[in-house]
Amino acid sequence: MNDSMRRAAAILLVILGGAALWWAGSRAAASASANDAMVATIAAARERAAANDPRLKPASRFEQGGWIYVHLEGNPGAMGYQHGYLLAPEIEDGFAAVSAGMMHSTQRDWEFFRKAAHEMLWPKIDAEYQQELQGIVEGLRARTGSKLDVYDIVAFNAFEELPDYYVPWLNKQQKTANAPSLKSPGNCSAFVATGSWTKDGQIVMAHNNWTNYRNGERWRIVFDIAPKNGYRMLMDGFPGVIASDDDFGINSDGLMVTETTITQFEGWDPSGKAEFVRARKALQYAGSIDEYTKIMLDGNNGGYANDWLLGDRKTGEIAQLELGLKAYKLWRTKDGVLAGSNWARDPKVLKEDAPQFDPNNKESSPNARRARWNELLNDNKGKIDVALAEKMLGDHADTAQKKEEANERTLCGHVDGSPRGVKEWDWQPYYPGGAVQGKATDAAMTKEMRIMARMGHPCGGDFLAKPFLAAHPEQAWQEPYLRDMKAGPWTEFRSGQASKE
Ligand SMILES: [Zn+2]
Repeated sequence: MNDSMRRAAAILLVILGGAALWWAGSRAAASASANDAMVATIAAARERAAANDPRLKPASRFEQGGWIYVHLEGNPGAMGYQHGYLLAPEIEDGFAAVSAGMMHSTQRDWEFFRKAAHEMLWPKIDAEYQQELQGIVEGLRARTGSKLDVYDIVAFNAFEELPDYYVPWLNKQQKTANAPSLKSPGNCSAFVATGSWTKDGQIVMAHNNWTNYRNGERWRIVFDIAPKNGYRMLMDGFPGVIASDDDFGINSDGLMVTETTITQFEGWDPSGKAEFVRARKALQYAGSIDEYTKIMLDGNNGGYANDWLLGDRKTGEIAQLELGLKAYKLWRTKDGVLAGSNWARDPKVLKEDAPQFDPNNKESSPNARRARWNELLNDNKGKIDVALAEKMLGDHADTAQKKEEANERTLCGHVDGSPRGVKEWDWQPYYPGGAVQGKATDAAMTKEMRIMARMGHPCGGDFLAKPFLAAHPEQAWQEPYLRDMKAGPWTEFRSGQASKE
């Protein structure tokens, strides 16, 4: 071969090589798009098959007033399937936001929480709730092809107890170096009143949920649950979680349940039963204050330790169950009012379970709100009804400064507006948290299984994520999850509601 022939051959080779590459490339693109089309076809077929699943038949979903109402009915596995299927997009979204928060605050990876769920919590979960949790996974997978498994869902259900109760206990046990400061949450303002305190002499109960806005904006489910065994329940809740968890619920035997969390609680029993399981079981099976107390005490693990505020519409009696781990106390009355704003009051519970809490600091959020509840409830003795309770949940009187100002000390909390934050909960100045929604009901409404609920700050104020994040770059990690939280109207929901009515 001469030089020119060699050059021509080389050029030809380059051209052929290029053509071969182009051909292979276009084949790959064609097969990738064929693959995408196949995946989409399979997903559509899966959704069709899942939608026709007979387990979905009694279930339903509609949206109103910023809330998503779901009706679940049947045996535990079927109710789980309905829950997972009907709330699949909200569960995926809620899981992403909640798990990011759990990992961020504890500096532990997700595998750590899965392991805790699998080894510590799962073996002690009653069979019916294991089936319900398993059902959630099945419904979720059927709808979206989700990769989440039952241990993801169990760890997620325990989002109030694993990061802020188990992890600090474990860090102490293991003397973890540079352990992050973790404090039990201080969620909520609530009261239950009866007898001469209320307008009709019967029970009135109200609650607003305090949490970070990231999770709180997602706490917008109304669950109407008709289980095969136990009582019918109506409660607010979080997508993918089997207990109300903030907590506000009523059952068809007339039990009325809410709570506020004990500030600066310390302790955990790894051999106990998860709080979310006990709380769900108590609402489902307790027909009296005594039965409620018994179920909550059975396997008490110390997780998400609350001052439970209870009412029994059959007897008109109300109660407060201050449920520590080493100590607990039950108060009950047929003529009185019991309020909560995240303080323990029994000397033994304070000493043994919340030793860091200072009940005398009038400037702290729990104590300032305690003073405000006292004023407000005493001023309205004999006049308390649901309409008034709704107003109280949106109250902005700061007893420490003696002025109207929405901040961390007001019954309707706005910590994002406070230069102080809440140090007892490790909420930094301007922490994006506070009251995220409110609920109220009374004995007559409970008899008909009805509640009032308002999404967003109970005062009606909006939280806007974008300007907040621009002003507070220290919260930038929340950016993918933090959304606007706009207040909806007070809206009535009742058991068996079919759609917007
Ligand atoms: Zn407010």
